Amino acid sequence: MSQSAVPAEPATLDAVLAARIRRVFDAQRAVALRLRESTLAERLAKLARLRAAILAHRAGIIEAVSADLSRPPVETELAELLPLLSDLADYRGHLARWWRPRRVRPTIPTLGTRAWIQREPRGRTLIQSPWNYPIVLTLGPLIPAVACGNTAMIKTSELAPHSSRVLATIVRDAFDESEVAVFEGDAAVGAALLELPFDHIFFTGSPAVGQIVMAAAARHLASVTLELGGKSPVIIDASADLDRAVDTIAWAKCLNAGQTCIAPDHVYVHAAVYEQVVERFRRRLTRWYGEDAAGTPDLARIVNERHARRLAGLLADARTRGAAVLHGGDVDLERRFVAPTLLGEIPEDAHIMQEEIFGPLLPLIAYQSEEEVIERINAAPKSLALYIWSRERQVARRIIQHTSAGGTCINQVALQFLHHNLPFGGVNHSGIGSYHGEWGIRAFSHERAVLEAKVQLAGAFFPPYGARVRRMLALLMKWST
Ligand code: NAD
Repeated sequence: MSQSAVPAEPATLDAVLAARIRRVFDAQRAVALRLRESTLAERLAKLARLRAAILAHRAGIIEAVSADLSRPPVETELAELLPLLSDLADYRGHLARWWRPRRVRPTIPTLGTRAWIQREPRGRTLIQSPWNYPIVLTLGPLIPAVACGNTAMIKTSELAPHSSRVLATIVRDAFDESEVAVFEGDAAVGAALLELPFDHIFFTGSPAVGQIVMAAAARHLASVTLELGGKSPVIIDASADLDRAVDTIAWAKCLNAGQTCIAPDHVYVHAAVYEQVVERFRRRLTRWYGEDAAGTPDLARIVNERHARRLAGLLADARTRGAAVLHGGDVDLERRFVAPTLLGEIPEDAHIMQEEIFGPLLPLIAYQSEEEVIERINAAPKSLALYIWSRERQVARRIIQHTSAGGTCINQVALQFLHHNLPFGGVNHSGIGSYHGEWGIRAFSHERAVLEAKVQLAGAFFPPYGARVRRMLALLMKWST
């Protein structure tokens, strides 16, 4: 859907699919209860089966994503298979440590007890995924869901039908549907699933649909992880290594033709280096994609004509309001092609400065002072990522301290997604909760507080509340406060 538009009303669902949803949900109830007793060895064996299925369908995955997005195979290996397989290796190596109960020390009022935090599966989970990285954003959350002993019903995106099909096959190869099941289909399928009282909903998609998901979860008080999007800004200050900055930003913007949740959305460039930066971007884009980028095999296409039209609309609106096209600007709706495009002199009220771009259009905004950039960033909803290019550590420190974002890279872009010792997620408008590595375990399990009494001291406070109880209470107050 459009990155800012109000989501369309879901259509009604056909009866056969509605019945399958209900049947699988009911079947998963008994399985979810049984999975509470599953051992780590059993869960790791399931992850090994998932890994084997992914590897068995490796070529199919690459083909399917190419069919959906005309994405270069290298980008699919790099941005989907590599993070998935490295995440699986991480879980193999660390699940036992992440899952282990954690003893905690008694506090003074609880002397005479033993206590620990014990993880337990959430139960029945729903995973809803988007189309832009359909494989990793579906199977990525499934890894911790399975590692924690949950069942999962998965809703893939209708905009990536080939990828959805291969996902359904992979899941069928690795799991019985009473444990993990894939549902292909549109918003109506998503809406039907959201009616069900899941224990946890893990949603990746737009903030607009995220609101619908959270409202649905509220009806059953299901916990949620919302991995949303938004406009992730980049700052290039005057001290930055301009060559490295431009190369990395251009690459991250053109990866998957800009249809990446953590892509640089727009760039604030210090006025002192603005012209140099524009020139470097132009040279870099021409070197990589040629004078006419439509012919390159190294650039994905826009997912469908509607989204290509949306991007053409953003470009036309910016132009009408006086923006300058500094490079590119070509759009071919029929071939779903949008050229890597640099835009300058963009008025703040242009649509492109209001909604998530999600395509290879890059606004470059000259700034004079750090305060001015911080103010503009804080005036916008909190972003999923914020990138800072500077050789001065104090600059990065100040910007981090005065802004809020899901994650930040200093002198790098998008690499936080691959670093599984970091939580990946947004904040408020860009998301709630996080995953990857140990944070996936936190998302898909409940931390249960367990207290075991060794000495029964509580009796000291039973009625009647006479002088003895008051004396005990006074002592306790004195020792523990
Ligand atoms: P979307 O919100 O349109 O769709 C996501 C999923 O929700 C799809 O499966 C879709 O079928 C379903 N859906 C749509 N309308 C629904 C409704 N009314 N009821 C129930 N389900 C519904 O998102 P998209 O266009 O697929 O993906 C792009 C968005 O996702 C961007 O905003 C991007 O930034 C964000 N994103 C975030 C991350 C992240 O990790 N934080 C990753 C990728 C994409």
